Amino acid sequence: MQLSHRIETLTPGGSNGWEIFLKAKAMIAAGQPVIELTIGEHDIRTDTAILGAMDRSARGGHTGYAEIPGVAALRDAVAARITERTGVATGRDNVLITPGGQAGLFSAHCATCDAGDAALFIDPYYVTYPGTVRAAGARPVTVPARPEDGFRPRGADILAAAGADAKSLLINTPNNPTGAVYDRETLEGIGRAVLERDLWLLSDEVYDTQLWDGSHLSPRALPELTDRTLVIGSMSKSHAMTGSRCGWIVGPEEAIAHLINLATHTTYGVPGFVQDAALFALEQGDALEAEVAAPFRRRRALALEILNRQNVLRLLPPQGAMYVMLDVRATGMTGLEFAEALLEQHRIAVMPGASFGAAAAGHIRVAMTVEDSAFAAALETLCRFAASCCAPA
Ligand code: PMP
Repeated sequence: MQLSHRIETLTPGGSNGWEIFLKAKAMIAAGQPVIELTIGEHDIRTDTAILGAMDRSARGGHTGYAEIPGVAALRDAVAARITERTGVATGRDNVLITPGGQAGLFSAHCATCDAGDAALFIDPYYVTYPGTVRAAGARPVTVPARPEDGFRPRGADILAAAGADAKSLLINTPNNPTGAVYDRETLEGIGRAVLERDLWLLSDEVYDTQLWDGSHLSPRALPELTDRTLVIGSMSKSHAMTGSRCGWIVGPEEAIAHLINLATHTTYGVPGFVQDAALFALEQGDALEAEVAAPFRRRRALALEILNRQNVLRLLPPQGAMYVMLDVRATGMTGLEFAEALLEQHRIAVMPGASFGAAAAGHIRVAMTVEDSAFAAALETLCRFAASCCAPA
């Protein structure tokens, strides 16, 4: 039976960027000792106090259908968090609770793009973006960000990419995979371009608690952008709750009302006990967020120390998020060749840059997601491997 064109072409060419990740998984399943530095998942589990709140809620009976827009108290807590962090008055009606940031990204594209409309996003990008856009029926269009600009996009490139059928631009700061954090000037440049082309701005802020240098600025905080921005947030990275699938969209009330309608006809909300656990987690305040981010802060410092001792791999010090992007072009290999050889020869799995778009070709992304000493040892091996590739034969 013929399936829809939409689903059959979700990942054209059969490549979805996860090849090295899947190969590493298969090697691990076959009993091989692989250091897994591909995926953005903490090496700690969800805090037991959060699990306690989940357990109390479930045993207390919150296991039926939950309110579709989200439990009122959680929507209020998210609204208060956003108000505090953006200075923009945000209430319950500006918030929809979603099954993770991923569902937020999909829903936000459904809300802003009709079938065939162009949905822009910045390259390098989080691996799922093109498929998420296609799943929503829109057409993915990339806007390049250059290593020499610290992977921050230029307004002129957005204008050049945005044709008459463009409806939205998705940005992500702090950025996966590059670790770039957009400053005010960058956001203002983006703002001018989206105003000129009358685009919705979709702002993926799932790494907003992982800041190593500079501070997080949400475009919702820029007055000219508040009414055209949909913020996508999540408990996954901030509270090590990746498996709980709890996130949100924050935006203008009218857009949220329609998004609630979409949720009614698609996800039907998020489990009540998960939402109660998320509420408990948010109530613990910044201290818990800092605790969850701390291992990445430490490993980022370790990575800079190790990488500064060599001169083959070029590093753009990550300002945020849980990854390090390395330029491997001096080895003469592509990112994919480097990642494949490193996995083959040293059992270390990293993501090839090209998984994140053409602008990241010649790079690899290293996730800082194993315990400190294993992370440092893996990075040292990686540096020795890179140096050996450059050594005269
Ligand atoms: N956006 C970015 C940039 C991500 O890296 C991820 C997860 N790796 C997500 C969104 C989705 O996260 P979740 O659905 O777990 O909230």
